Amino acid sequence: MAEDWSAELRRAAAYVEAHAADFEQRWAQWLRIPSISADPAHRPDLERAADWLLEQFRGLGLTAEKIPTAGAPLVYAESPPVQGAPTALVYGHYDVQPAEPIQAWESPPFEPTRRNGAMYARGATDDKGQLLTHLWSTEAWLRAVGRLPVQLKFLIEGEEEIGSSHLEQFLRDRPQRAVCDCVVISDGAQFGPDQPAICYGLRGIAYYELRLKGPKRDLHSGSFGGTVTNPANALAQMLAGLVDERGRIQIPGFYDDVTPLSAEERERLASLPFDEEKFLADLGVSGATGEEGYTLLERRWARPTFDIHGLWSGYQGEGAKTVLPAEAGAKFSFRLVPYQDPAKITLGLRQRLQELCPPGIQMELLETHGTPAVLAPVESPYVQAAVRAIQQAFGRPPVFIREGGSIPIVAAFQQAFPIPVLLVGWGQDDDNTHAPNERLRLVDFHRGIQASIYLWAELALAFPRH
Ligand SMILES: [Zn+2]
Repeated sequence: MAEDWSAELRRAAAYVEAHAADFEQRWAQWLRIPSISADPAHRPDLERAADWLLEQFRGLGLTAEKIPTAGAPLVYAESPPVQGAPTALVYGHYDVQPAEPIQAWESPPFEPTRRNGAMYARGATDDKGQLLTHLWSTEAWLRAVGRLPVQLKFLIEGEEEIGSSHLEQFLRDRPQRAVCDCVVISDGAQFGPDQPAICYGLRGIAYYELRLKGPKRDLHSGSFGGTVTNPANALAQMLAGLVDERGRIQIPGFYDDVTPLSAEERERLASLPFDEEKFLADLGVSGATGEEGYTLLERRWARPTFDIHGLWSGYQGEGAKTVLPAEAGAKFSFRLVPYQDPAKITLGLRQRLQELCPPGIQMELLETHGTPAVLAPVESPYVQAAVRAIQQAFGRPPVFIREGGSIPIVAAFQQAFPIPVLLVGWGQDDDNTHAPNERLRLVDFHRGIQASIYLWAELALAFPRH
């Protein structure tokens, strides 16, 4: 018979209510530490932020340690195993983005301020506030009930904003530390205000730099134009040759591994309350673009894409200069969907660029980084446990969404252990993540804590192993 947790859940929920102010106050304390990973001058702040977290874990009686790396330390904590119940691993990060431009902040980025029902500070949502919801739910269980329904592990890093390289290394070298049945990550947003969501798919990415060399020096376009291949012209032609007018990417084998969207999934995406006109108006654009035959949300989340990120060549200064530049270059990437392999994309891309490369041009293609896409089955009992937890905390069921971006560490977790990753974000799209005036609404913070309290019980109930 499955265990009934209702009495324990009431006690944990009462603890959270009684400690709401204390939770906010400790959250603000952590936000005061400017743990900016991109800036080496803030290295001591990364240590302080890690130490603060370590102290919280130890205060709860968890086994916790700070694991040094060649960069910022990892913080690892675990509760005792629970017989017959799964182990969930919470991943999050204590580092934050730089706060610039500082003058655009209405209150200083590292002086957490409560206004309009939200906490404003760098890291308020990304990821200190969202991560803390899981720590506070753990505290509520341990203090009010005396134990957790499942074993919890916390693996928290300080380099998410700069590429997670040392965490990836740790997962490769010491995977046994992170062995678990599912990973829980709150580092994203709900679908809209009061519309919680579970993200079940992330796109991957394949990122490149293309360098073209033409004549051995810059030339006069009057004397040489029309005879010597201009690398800037060649670059424009080659990049244009990677996609056709219907938005289809022109690389051999590019779509071979792309599975068509099922009718059921297309229906699910179409049923989301999404206002395309408002979406475009918010961005200040008069129309959308993309692959023919797909809706905007399908193109944004579930179809592969091509985008140029940077272009350089020739004269960039004031006025005119009639140069035929010796070099040109570009950075660009493809967003990938499940089952596309970045290495295979590179092979096809190289072949296509060689076909497109005109005489007189030497090309060099650099592969910057590649991450495969991630897809979690929505029928999985772990996902369904999260659905029930969110339903109870938010008073309505979550919608299932996908995300157009990539979270490399999620792909790394899935490569280390093929287990479900639950992406449950409590923030909102307009919380100014990475921008001035970052915030997290207090109501979302507290509902996140409640949902997390339910989640540990639901995960235990979903797996009665007697
Ligand atoms: Zn984040």
